[in-house]
Amino acid sequence: MKIAIYSNLGESSNNVATALKKEIDKSSMLSIDGLNPEMVISVGGDGTLLSAFHHYQDISDRIRLVGIHTGHLGFYTDWRDYEVSELVDSLEHDNGQSVTYPLLDIRVNYASGGFADKGLALNESTLKQINGTMVADLYIKNQLFESFRGDGLCVSTPSGSTAYNKSVGGAIINPLLNAIQVAEISSINNRVFRTLGSPLIIAPDEWVKVVLKSAGRTILTCDQQVVSTDPIASIEYRISKHRVAFAQYRHTQFWRRVSNSFIGRPKIDD
Ligand code: NAP
Repeated sequence: MKIAIYSNLGESSNNVATALKKEIDKSSMLSIDGLNPEMVISVGGDGTLLSAFHHYQDISDRIRLVGIHTGHLGFYTDWRDYEVSELVDSLEHDNGQSVTYPLLDIRVNYASGGFADKGLALNESTLKQINGTMVADLYIKNQLFESFRGDGLCVSTPSGSTAYNKSVGGAIINPLLNAIQVAEISSINNRVFRTLGSPLIIAPDEWVKVVLKSAGRTILTCDQQVVSTDPIASIEYRISKHRVAFAQYRHTQFWRRVSNSFIGRPKIDD
């Protein structure tokens, strides 16, 4: 099996990546291939795995991901830094099984008339206005749902629901569900302006369209990156036809992860 190692620049991650490479070099069944891998192993945290996903996004349908965490248990990282030998053993006995999660598809229509496919988010995409209030009409399918006023909107995947989405009051969604979620960022709600004020969860045959009405400066993000600061006319968000695949050797049960990360008392059984 061809393997790519994608590490962050921290000293402990570098040490783990070096140890992993040595173990892989010793194996007759595994080889390192950074260009055309079948398995991508990220070493670091969830942020590192997000970067690894985007680095290999063009071949994401052909790869599976594994995360080694060099800090705390993450949402995309299942292996500990001292478990390199066990991981290599699992890779040698790989039977091709995977767990897949939904991705978010982002399509932008620019005010200048251009159209762009702004790619896939593993966590979320946010649209925020940085000067003045963002005013936008929100459509579900082709039906006007509400007129939004506030700082912006966050549209997230289920696996991204524990990230920025959670900070803005979104619900946590088990990534085994095929859905996307829209959460408001500081909406204005008073007698004149009214939005739902709670997160929306969108079904697989639906999509969300955000039509900008204000002319302020906007920032469009996809996971860690600002993907556009150009004036936007509208954006369509859908559940992507593509999914992200993780190797299934060890896959921490989702609610155990949530409990571990946010409550600190991991009492939920697998
Ligand atoms: P960062 O600003 O360095 O780290 C953000 C934190 O979010 C890190 O602790 C990271 O975990 C954690 N994280 C990433 N994906 C997660 C997920 N699916 N569930 C729970 N926690 C998650 O940025 P980064 O590490 O490059 O990650 C980018 C992500 O950060 C964005 O996609 C966004 O979701 C999130 N973010 C959140 C806020 C907020 O909550 N106010 C603000 C900006 C960005 P690790 O420490 O394991 O890497």
